[in-house]
Amino acid sequence: MPQLLNLNNELLTAIAGHLSIDDLKTFSIVCHKFAMIAHDDSVWREMLYNNFGITYKLPEETWKSMYARKHEDPTNNRMCPHVCRLTRPALEPYVRKYQQVLNWLPKNLNCTTCGQNQHHAGVCMYMWQGNTRLRCRDCAYKFHTTFNDRRGILFRLPRLQLFCFACSRQLGETRGDSSEAHFVHGILKTLTHDSEIGQESLRQKEQCLRERELYATDADRASVLESDPHYYFVDRMWLTTWFLRTCDGDIGKGPIPNHTLAGPDDKLNPDARPRGNFAGGISIVTPYLWKYLVDTYGLSGNVYTSDDIKGPEYCELRQSIADWRLN
Ligand SMILES: [Zn+2]
Ligand SMILES: [Zn+2]
Repeated sequence: MPQLLNLNNELLTAIAGHLSIDDLKTFSIVCHKFAMIAHDDSVWREMLYNNFGITYKLPEETWKSMYARKHEDPTNNRMCPHVCRLTRPALEPYVRKYQQVLNWLPKNLNCTTCGQNQHHAGVCMYMWQGNTRLRCRDCAYKFHTTFNDRRGILFRLPRLQLFCFACSRQLGETRGDSSEAHFVHGILKTLTHDSEIGQESLRQKEQCLRERELYATDADRASVLESDPHYYFVDRMWLTTWFLRTCDGDIGKGPIPNHTLAGPDDKLNPDARPRGNFAGGISIVTPYLWKYLVDTYGLSGNVYTSDDIKGPEYCELRQSIADWRLN
């Protein structure tokens, strides 16, 4: 015991971080010094790493609350531990390679394993122990599964996407925890820091993530009809394509082709209907999303809102919106 008491606080915290929660309670009542150690937030940082392999949290939260949240996610559905290997020193070779590849001609963006050109699919690296080979996703996956203990992260360069094969999901995006997103953002900032093109790609990626959230809350939802009786119509094919592009890490392409919704006299076509991906199909969006889309992508054609469908000729359209069963 006296020997333990002579250790410095850092070492004692490291030791306490290996205890179970019950043992930590016992540890804390041994003496004043141990109580201080056990009640310090740092001990939870150690426990988070020892039990779950996680080294990140949100800046504004304590390690203790991060530990509690991670405790509820034992299968890594929301917080990937494997990405924690990507510390700054571990990222260095990838930063260098990323900068080089940005300047390559499309014809040279080939998978070095199968030889296929990856300009359109997006060339990848499997970030593992400094390995910087360019690969396609399939070859990276084969490389990943060759050994059971490989826990690398797939980096899709042009879209700045990180994918964990072990957790089988995109990291730092919709399905992940906000702490993971914060950590992933730091990695992407490091990777892109030294180049204009890289920083522009990162801005685009952030725009993408924001737009995906906007789609989820402000388009084709019952809440769009309920929260504000005033809503806007958008060409449905365009809106669907815009959303699918953001899912693939790309932004939309303007302008919004609302002229497809025009009928006689340039008024909204009374035969326009929601649902389905056909020309002349309509989606509904909130005033907020409408303004965002027009500001960002431009508009070709007219503005059509809920005010335009009050006449008797729109009776069936109004009914089909009511029957839409949005949730
Ligand atoms: Zn993972
Ligand atoms: Zn390949």
